[in-house]
Amino acid sequence: ITFEMLPLAAPIQQALADKGYTQPSPIQAQSIPVLLEGRDLMACAQTGTGKTASFALPILHRLTEIRRRPERHEVRSLILTPTRELAVQVADSFRTYGKNMRFSIGLVHGGVSQYPQVKALNRGLDVLVATPGRLVDLYEQGHVDLSGVGCFVLDEADRMLDMGFIHDIRKIADELPEDRQTVFFSATMAPTITKLANSLLDDPEEIRI
Ligand code: AMP
Repeated sequence: ITFEMLPLAAPIQQALADKGYTQPSPIQAQSIPVLLEGRDLMACAQTGTGKTASFALPILHRLTEIRRRPERHEVRSLILTPTRELAVQVADSFRTYGKNMRFSIGLVHGGVSQYPQVKALNRGLDVLVATPGRLVDLYEQGHVDLSGVGCFVLDEADRMLDMGFIHDIRKIADELPEDRQTVFFSATMAPTITKLANSLLDDPEEIRI
């Protein structure tokens, strides 16, 4: 299987070709068609498997089909990550794969001033990559509207639980629309993780790499 065989929009195909990527990794080959269909996904995958593109490419593809810009405070796709470093990496991947598209992306994490993050949220974002703690802070201050999120991704969910983010994740998930798509990535599948996944996912496709 090659990327060209997947129904991804031309600007994305071009960005992949420029990067020299011709073949999707196993996790990408399995998850991209499922996510393009709009289904929920539960994937057990380690870092280094290409998991970021697995969710970034379908999210970007969906954006090529929408003309309207996001409303003020609106977020279209929300990606939660355990750490600031991973959030920065995920946002960089979106910029790389989406370099031939016009879309807005924001980063929200602790350890830096809130002000630029608040300004970006005010404008509305196609994609928001966030760590749970800071996102809850900004949500409680009224800076972000989560009621329009169409795709919710939990990246490295096991690490988020290890870091004590369970309450923040639940608080955020409670504000999301019921009919969203949910994508759950974890390197391990301990009972606490499966329990969280079951409460967030709706009839997910399950993939193990
Ligand atoms: P990740 O597991 O998402 O952190 O990705 C691991 C590394 O693999 C990153 O440096 C990606 O840029 C790279 N990568 C992702 N997908 C592919 C692919 N289909 N072909 C070659 N490299 C890839």
